[in-house]
Amino acid sequence: IFISFEGVDGAGKTTQVNRLRDELEAMGREVVVTREPGGTPLGGAIRKLLLHGVPGGSADIAPRAEALLFAADRAQHVAEVIRPALERGAVVITDRYLDSSLAYQAGGRELTADEVRSLSMWATNGLLPARTYLLDMDPALSHTRLDHDEDRMESAGDAFQRRTRQAFLDLAAGEPDRFRVIDASGTVENMWRAIRADIADLL
Ligand code: C5P
Ligand code: MG
Repeated sequence: IFISFEGVDGAGKTTQVNRLRDELEAMGREVVVTREPGGTPLGGAIRKLLLHGVPGGSADIAPRAEALLFAADRAQHVAEVIRPALERGAVVITDRYLDSSLAYQAGGRELTADEVRSLSMWATNGLLPARTYLLDMDPALSHTRLDHDEDRMESAGDAFQRRTRQAFLDLAAGEPDRFRVIDASGTVENMWRAIRADIADLL
């Protein structure tokens, strides 16, 4: 089973990913926890470029180049980690997947959803999660939770973050079977209760 977590930075994805892993492992399942960008060694190198630009170079990455770098990270991630794990029957939980590209590279930047979607579907050979948890909250609030220096996307401004959040919500509304929207402004416990109840249905 393939599960993704999505949402703006600082929404608390990592905490919920770890809870879900613990719960599924306690049920005796093999669980692979991974993330984008950076779920493979190649992806780790791409992640550095995406977050901080090229050392000594301009911080600017053209929108199409940025979309291709995220797509390259994802293609390697699917080939090297996700598909092999799914094929041996593991549960794969990824912290971000292609909906992040639709929200950030299309919703946030100026690319269209159609072009980013077809790029992602090509990169992944059409692999979609069975379930996507969207941890939704106001990015102005989640931003204050960040415990690291801002990366390129995190410093892209309030309007960018708001467009990203709205794009995530629009995606969830368009695919209600795959998405579950979790209110990430509440407590960790309440979020976890909602996810645990849903996962019981999914399994
Ligand atoms: O979630 P994480 O902090 O690891 O993501 C790294 C950065 O890349 C974040 O600022 C996130 O918003 C951004 N990102 C993006 N497009 C994606 C995935 C992540 O802009 N497809
Ligand atoms: Mg982040």
